[in-house]
Amino acid sequence: MGVERTPALVLGSFPLAESDRVVTFFTRRFGKVRGVAKSARRMRSRFGAALELFTLGELVFFDSGRSELVQVDHFDIVRAFDRVRGDLTRLGHAAWMVELISRLTAERDPMVAVFTLLQRALASVEADEPPARVAVVFAVRCIDLLGHRLRIDACVGCGRRLALAGTMAVEVESGGTVCASCAGQGAMSVSAGTLAALQRLRTAAWRDATGTSLGRIEPELHGLLERHVATLVGQSSRASRFLREVSRA
Ligand SMILES: [Zn+2]
Repeated sequence: MGVERTPALVLGSFPLAESDRVVTFFTRRFGKVRGVAKSARRMRSRFGAALELFTLGELVFFDSGRSELVQVDHFDIVRAFDRVRGDLTRLGHAAWMVELISRLTAERDPMVAVFTLLQRALASVEADEPPARVAVVFAVRCIDLLGHRLRIDACVGCGRRLALAGTMAVEVESGGTVCASCAGQGAMSVSAGTLAALQRLRTAAWRDATGTSLGRIEPELHGLLERHVATLVGQSSRASRFLREVSRA
């Protein structure tokens, strides 16, 4: 309760009443926080363009303790990430990353490592690193940090050890690889090379991970992560539908 201050990233917002806006922030100190920005939609709003998607700022809010929604007092831009919004492909991949955090984290559950990861991924997209690859590396690490890591060294059905070789079966719903006897109809066929890349991206230095091409493996790894995220979220993400539209256009 009271006035709080924290670095925060804008995850999304929607209009409220005549001139206000409800903004979802991912904050460093408190995790996800939703707040009302009074008069944010007026021409001469003190928030200006600060509440744009992805913006990193210093958030000052008042929490009365009586509502889920805090009152946004100030949001001063630290980094606008303009370039991330300036191109549909960059925007789509960044929106996918933000949606993952929006949907898979609870309000007021601080996760400093996830905050740092998102900030770093947005900076990489801003710096013109390939957005699809940044999104893949981000998703691998974010899923791990949120406690949903896929098991790929054994069958999640019977526990038998599995060596990475040839084509493997993965059941994201069950949490990892399955042996031939345990594999159900919904299992995905994934090459061992893709699973080896997944393993490497979990621990590789960020620059090595985002700076090295994954070649033919990248679309397959993206597909696996997309399916895993959709399973965790309960449906395919809005941002992934948007990206499919962008690639068709
Ligand atoms: Zn098995």
